[in-house]
Amino acid sequence: MVSDHKGSFESIGAFKDETKTVNSYAKNLEVGEIADFEKRVVVVTSRDYADQTSLDKAAEELSHKQSKLSFEELQEAQANVWAKRWEKADVKIKGNDESQQGIRFNLFQLFSTYYGNDARLNIGPKGFTGEKYGGATYWDTEAFAVPLYLSLAEPSVTRNLLEYRYKQLPGAFHNAKEQGLKGALYPMVTFNGIECHNEWEITFEEIHRNGTIAYAIYNYTRYTGDTEYVTHDGFDVLVGIARFWADRVHFSQRKQVYMIHGVTGPNEYENNVNNNWYTNLLAQWCLRYAKEVSSQVSPEKLSQLGLESKELAKWEEIADNMYLPEDKELGIFVQHDGFLDKDLRPVSEIPADQLPLNQNWSWDHILRSPYIKQADVLQGIYYFIDKFTKEEKARNFDFYEQYTVHESSLSPSIYAIVAADLHKEEKAFELYSRTARLDLDNYNNDTVDGLHVTSMTGSWLAIVQGFAGMRVKDGKLFFAPFVPKQWDGYEFRINFRGRLLEVKASKDVSQVSLLEGPALTINLNGKDLELK
Ligand code: BGC
Repeated sequence: MVSDHKGSFESIGAFKDETKTVNSYAKNLEVGEIADFEKRVVVVTSRDYADQTSLDKAAEELSHKQSKLSFEELQEAQANVWAKRWEKADVKIKGNDESQQGIRFNLFQLFSTYYGNDARLNIGPKGFTGEKYGGATYWDTEAFAVPLYLSLAEPSVTRNLLEYRYKQLPGAFHNAKEQGLKGALYPMVTFNGIECHNEWEITFEEIHRNGTIAYAIYNYTRYTGDTEYVTHDGFDVLVGIARFWADRVHFSQRKQVYMIHGVTGPNEYENNVNNNWYTNLLAQWCLRYAKEVSSQVSPEKLSQLGLESKELAKWEEIADNMYLPEDKELGIFVQHDGFLDKDLRPVSEIPADQLPLNQNWSWDHILRSPYIKQADVLQGIYYFIDKFTKEEKARNFDFYEQYTVHESSLSPSIYAIVAADLHKEEKAFELYSRTARLDLDNYNNDTVDGLHVTSMTGSWLAIVQGFAGMRVKDGKLFFAPFVPKQWDGYEFRINFRGRLLEVKASKDVSQVSLLEGPALTINLNGKDLELK
């Protein structure tokens, strides 16, 4: 909607087609004369107003006091809002302007995409910057964005992301039913809870996403300490998911274990595999987590969900007997049953002109190959990073890294965090660098499709959970920072349970300070410190 407050422009036409609405204005100017033309835009959507009324609503909004503010006043109000966001979220990198620009650009894009004030909204993998992925919701939100928003914004922002999934529970029941299964299957791609991806290998098989929906509830609960969500609406989600897994597993009479066949793991360069370690691990964890939470919910809630001890015992029995493929000789978790029988040649042996594989190889060739698009076993190690021994993590990292092509931008940051955990500092920085300026430098030659919003969250995770080693264990924050040799130091802020904390790391010292909120005990480099 355009308004010329001075009334000195003449409207000379308007038209509308599928892609645009055009209003044309004209004015004759004397030489040297300056005319201001002001265009004010208000956005109203059919999500909030019936279509027929939206134009009137737009006019009404434009006539509000807000719209009478000058450009400078509006700009100032906008700057104030952003200043508050940066106050809580800025990351400062010393001694490397390119890295500094990269992380600020990423945070700016993230906050421009989502700031959590409407539980009907979510985060598309491209934000609003491109049409790839159609603006739909993916598991990217729970796996990548939730940990970032938990630290950088009020808990209500993440809570809205969780409620989005709660509201879509009926869609998840529908998806499971479509597969003839009980419980809830959250979609890989959705707008309203109903699966809308169009490939069966993904919709029916890439079911690991269900685990991440539960994991986000766990992450929210352990980070915020708020148990209200998980024991109320969140519990409905956990039970729906647990019921799905309990029905989706089958019992192998021969091996006397529960298995999950016919799946696609996070590595979409393989389909229809049996016993994807990551999927089985998450299914096992979901069943145990739902059972654990059941002891904290009210009897009314249990009876409302029809959850009885017999069903809980079954979940426990499945979890305790879940098959998690391992190779004792190599000392690794096996990505899936057939993985080790592939033609295992490292990525380094692929001629450079054949990379990226997804632009050079047939789909059939890719599917038969051992090459890993994105963190798969490593995604599981990342989720439960403190549950594995250093040796287990190192062996799996070294083994899988050689076959990983990182052809999803979600991948390098997860590898970077595990590398940092293993003190492979050079490696961690190299992997982090693949996400840090991905779009600013058009690193993958595909920024034209839109920004890699999920990968942007990954670059923050790589700094905070990777280089600074941030973990939450039993309600306590842990840090173990190192400074990559390409930097002189870095600082960042995080929110944690009503506090604002600042972490500063330089080459010789790391420091954590409490900027706001009550005293708190944290652990820095293995030592407990009480911050006041
Ligand atoms: C990845 C998925 C991801 C999607 C959207 C795909 O390339 O394999 O894991 O959810 O992109 O980012």
